[in-house]
Amino acid sequence: MSDLDFVSGSKPIGLEKGEGPYLYTADGTEYLDAGASYACTPLGHCHPAVVDAVQEQVGELTFVDSSYPVQAREDAYAALVAAAPDGLEGAWFCNSGTEANEAALKFARSATGESKIVAATRSFHGRTMGSLAATWKDKYKEPYEPLAGDMEFVPYGDDEELAAAVDDETAAVILEPIQGEGGINVPPVGYLETAREVTDEAGAALVLDEVQTGMGRTGEMWACQNAGVTPDVLTTAKGLGNGLPVGALAVQDWIADGAASHNATFSGGPVVAAAVHATVSTLVEEDWPTHAAEIGDYLVTELEAALGEAVREVRGEGLLVGIELKRGANRVARDLAMNHQILALPAGRTVLRLLPPLVIGEDEADQLVDALTAVIAPAADSES
Ligand SMILES: *Cc1c(COP(=O)(O)O)cnc(C)c1O
Repeated sequence: MSDLDFVSGSKPIGLEKGEGPYLYTADGTEYLDAGASYACTPLGHCHPAVVDAVQEQVGELTFVDSSYPVQAREDAYAALVAAAPDGLEGAWFCNSGTEANEAALKFARSATGESKIVAATRSFHGRTMGSLAATWKDKYKEPYEPLAGDMEFVPYGDDEELAAAVDDETAAVILEPIQGEGGINVPPVGYLETAREVTDEAGAALVLDEVQTGMGRTGEMWACQNAGVTPDVLTTAKGLGNGLPVGALAVQDWIADGAASHNATFSGGPVVAAAVHATVSTLVEEDWPTHAAEIGDYLVTELEAALGEAVREVRGEGLLVGIELKRGANRVARDLAMNHQILALPAGRTVLRLLPPLVIGEDEADQLVDALTAVIAPAADSES
């Protein structure tokens, strides 16, 4: 098995059970889930609030389409809008992150009457034709071209290039507040404010893709709140249903008042709606974002102290953490899994990504630091 196989699907670890930040094989071997399967379980595996809500709903009314009012869906809308940044009062549900971004680009075009979309290098917005067109890596795009047109890429984090690209013909700027797949790239302070200013001036929509950064991971419910910037459209998915497949977008009135309309048969179905309501209300009521900020600070401080010169950088915000290695991240992820029972994710060639459930404590953070030290620090000594 190559390292590539390990990350692209054939991990030789048959998982049967999950509880909190831990996963278990049939024979009871315990793994610490430091990737949450790409940030999909912010409350940890099988959180009782979500399990109970889903079990109750699936037995009561599994599905009716969104033309019928259903309490679970109303509750999910209310919870999402209450948790969204102030000013984002319209919400749509869909089935995934890529679909949320598709809808965002559609809405930006209809609200502005323009078509140009400005996206960033190293971005990842999903794998359907529109979101894929706004995604940076050729590897994902080339076999399917031509994709949706009128896309312009600017270097992520560069204020001047962004300002120069946005003009009267721009429908939207789409950015991740911190890039996830691209390597946990934190933009310079002020970058999102610049994005806000230049889109305001041009009458374009600022779309912030919080599919990976949202749901409390960076210490606020949404990463844009750390920067004090409110987008016109915020997209979310991944952790939104704590593991159930659901996405959503929250939008400002001027976007909603345009011709904005998006729907899909399964959008906001009762079962996923019950999961969203339980997930969002538990995150907010129990204030898990604040915990993520605290434990994230602890983790990064301990990692920096333990790894020191053995790595190039430890970066991120809250429990969205990237470790820039001096060697391939796939191998390190594999070693962590096979020899230390820690499941982490690469983000690009040399960045190891930690996105644990927000419910980890100092014990789990220490477990992560010890394993990473064992895998990274000695090897770096002998290589340098
Ligand atoms: C994962 C991801 C997406 C795509 O979400 P899917 O649910 O896989 O379609 C979009 N944007 C970002 C930032 C992501 O991390």
